[in-house]
Amino acid sequence: MSSIELRQVSRDFDARTRALDSVDLTVLDGERLVVLGPSGSGKTTILRLIAGLDQPTTGSVRLGDALVDGLPPHRRNVAMVFQYPTLYPHLDVAGNLEFGLKTRGVPRAERRRRIGEVASMLKIDALVRRRPASLSGGERQRVAIGRAVVRRPAVLLLDEPFSSLDLPLRAALRRELIELHEAFRTTLVHVTHDQGEALSLGQRIAVLDRGRLIQVASPRELYERPASPIVAAFVGGPPMNLLPCTLVRDGSRTSLVVGQRRWPINPTHPLPALADGESRAMLMGIRPEHLHVDPADALTERAEGFLAIESRIRRIEFQGDSVLLTLDLRGSTAVARVAARDDFHEGQSVVASPDLARAVWFSADN
Ligand code: ATP
Repeated sequence: MSSIELRQVSRDFDARTRALDSVDLTVLDGERLVVLGPSGSGKTTILRLIAGLDQPTTGSVRLGDALVDGLPPHRRNVAMVFQYPTLYPHLDVAGNLEFGLKTRGVPRAERRRRIGEVASMLKIDALVRRRPASLSGGERQRVAIGRAVVRRPAVLLLDEPFSSLDLPLRAALRRELIELHEAFRTTLVHVTHDQGEALSLGQRIAVLDRGRLIQVASPRELYERPASPIVAAFVGGPPMNLLPCTLVRDGSRTSLVVGQRRWPINPTHPLPALADGESRAMLMGIRPEHLHVDPADALTERAEGFLAIESRIRRIEFQGDSVLLTLDLRGSTAVARVAARDDFHEGQSVVASPDLARAVWFSADN
């Protein structure tokens, strides 16, 4: 096993393409870290630099105690699984799993033992005599992961390995990967653009945007305390609402202005610190499940600190256990997730109440 350390790593492909920009990232020994970012944000480039398939323009990469700059891939004890892995077509599954062990001189009995162990964990034991051409996409991906793991690399890198698979299969493979990681404790870096996959798989998640690392945090922290509107909008499905508003401090009281209306805020809510008399344009970050919705005529007097923003339901999407309401809300749009019930309809006037105890505040010019 091995830790990974990227220090001030940049990678320029040409004068106009900076794929990575001053990235500082530490992956702990035995950790399962997910790199999350939209297409073109530099995820694959990070993996290629760790694997030694590419070199940083500036900065350095360390694996364990060793600086590995310039060291070729085969001397790094790193295995990488690609989105569309190529298996050896002329070898059966067992042969594919065994190949890297043979070339490394692992004795026959030990090869057998390891192949049996990995094949059983990845549920491919019934397939060991099959050739790759006869395997489904999910089975092929299992073999590719097995081939990487069976070598017992210090570091395992996975580049969107599930993105070509259907949703139930992805969920199953995700769980198997977690179990595999718990059994072997290899340092694992998994790349994806799928925020749901990142949240369920990562012990920590590193978010990349246009080559820059913008937050590294646990899934929960990333979801509850996104560091910027970009992270807020990228993590969570549907994403966090960002409502334009103004915070005003007058003496010891703070009020919130949304549209033309002003509400005093309960001082127990976590708020940005404002100077007396200060007024600041903000974005209030509210998760859809923290935006409560009531029919306008059912509104009862609310305690101080609750907002009641008049809105209209533009669209209702059924989700099984809940419904998503798209709301026109005083000049902006927001999405609320509420329990499935039948007294809402499109076009209906409602009031939306953000739960301010769960709000995250961003400066409007952030
Ligand atoms: P995706 O999710 O689409 O695979 P990514 O986040 O993995 O994207 P990278 O493949 O790391 O992104 O690419 C980051 C940027 O670097 C992109 O703008 C890409 O076009 C550019 N890039 C990557 N490899 C090269 C290359 N060999 N030559 C020129 N530009 C490159």
